[in-house]
Amino acid sequence: MRLSRYFLPVLKEIPAEAQIVSHRLMLRAGMIKQAQAGIYSWLPLGFKVLKKIENIVHEEQIRAGHIPMLMPTLQSADLWRESGRYDDYGEEMLRISDRHGRDMLYGPTNEELITDIFRSHVSSYKDLPLTLYHIQWKFRDEVRPRFGVMRGREFLMKDGYNFDVDKAAAMHAYNRHLVSYLRSYERMGLQAIPMRADSGPIGGDDTHEFLVLADTGESEVFYDSAVTDLTFGDRAIDYDDVAQCQGILEEFTSRYARTDETHDPALFDQIPEDRRRTARGIEVGQIFYFGTKYSEALGATVQTADGAAVPVHMGSHGIGVSRLVGAIIEASHDDKGIIWPEGVTPFHCGIVNLKQGDAEADGACEALYGSLTALGLEPLYDDRKERAGGKFATMDLIGLPWRITVGPRGLKNGVVELTSRRTGESEELTPQEAVEKVA
Ligand code: ATP
Ligand code: MG
Ligand code: MG
Ligand code: MG
Repeated sequence: MRLSRYFLPVLKEIPAEAQIVSHRLMLRAGMIKQAQAGIYSWLPLGFKVLKKIENIVHEEQIRAGHIPMLMPTLQSADLWRESGRYDDYGEEMLRISDRHGRDMLYGPTNEELITDIFRSHVSSYKDLPLTLYHIQWKFRDEVRPRFGVMRGREFLMKDGYNFDVDKAAAMHAYNRHLVSYLRSYERMGLQAIPMRADSGPIGGDDTHEFLVLADTGESEVFYDSAVTDLTFGDRAIDYDDVAQCQGILEEFTSRYARTDETHDPALFDQIPEDRRRTARGIEVGQIFYFGTKYSEALGATVQTADGAAVPVHMGSHGIGVSRLVGAIIEASHDDKGIIWPEGVTPFHCGIVNLKQGDAEADGACEALYGSLTALGLEPLYDDRKERAGGKFATMDLIGLPWRITVGPRGLKNGVVELTSRRTGESEELTPQEAVEKVA
């Protein structure tokens, strides 16, 4: 992409309404624009990051054997009356009626709708296990929408639902979700710690929240510092291997790590004092096993081998896709701007032309652009007639992992400058060497 033809409305001033760094940086970098309280337009740069995150989530869910689909944002109130949640959900639910006076709602979550699909089409245990998921916009009329996309009213969520014949099979689905979530967050450059949590209005016994440690997080968390040493890495996973998935769950959840809702001071005090941590965290996902709560209410049963009709065991599993954009920035920035992890960066590399209009510099930039593109990478070429200082500030703000600076002086010696956004270190390389290093 050439910056002269792109739409990147960066802001010079620091937006007064933004209280936390990710919100400020997203506004300044021209990633989002508020449409109404808690409702945002995703401008091109923000949209690109959102899509990168969405793709990682898709890839990891599919790898785990979970099946993508798409349900609508608007749902019928009748289904929610059947489950009993229409009245229980309260003011967070946006209620709408159509021209015929039929009650509808903008879905805050999809347990009812997916259970209705399941009960309409599945009746035998032979069709299980089944996990369906979608990535769709949700609406929750939050009392205090704030921190930009972190607590929006309209937000993008991946929500998946497993249907299993019994509790043991459903717990395997739970473990698969835990494993696939750990992989997903790591690919986004994030450490998200599974913590024992409270099941709240969805109900159920087993649940973990995934938290990214950050001072601006809205949850208070308590943990054994040993949990922060764990990394998933690139170990081979067989998602059908019940013992392997269970082993990973145990590895990642056996140390003390809890949100304030389930915090147990007596247990916490048993951890050696130098490992006890109290901190703030951002909830970027949650997994639940809730048994037959919805299948019983909505009559989703399957016939077992011996002919009995039993309600299916279910769980639901969510990732805050749009919240993650903010969470990643909270975890990865400096005073100049965002520092994108490689896995989610909107462009792989910036090209800064120090002397736009100089035939040699323009030619070298075009050649770099062509080589990077041919390798399947996406460069962002700043080809505007601007001062170098302004170009550098924009690149630092939008946080691409690499910047290649091209100017007549270097070209005389056959070199360009390659700068790492994370370390700030620069080196002089031939254009070919720079391309190889970025790739
Ligand atoms: P929170 O405690 O932050 O209100 P939640 O527990 O109500 O979140 P879940 O029902 O568990 O949310 O939804 C799954 C994921 O969706 C959450 O882990 C979070 O990452 C994301 N999410 C929830 N509410 C919002 C919101 N208002 N804006 C952006 N993302 C959200
Ligand atoms: Mg909530
Ligand atoms: Mg929560
Ligand atoms: Mg939650």
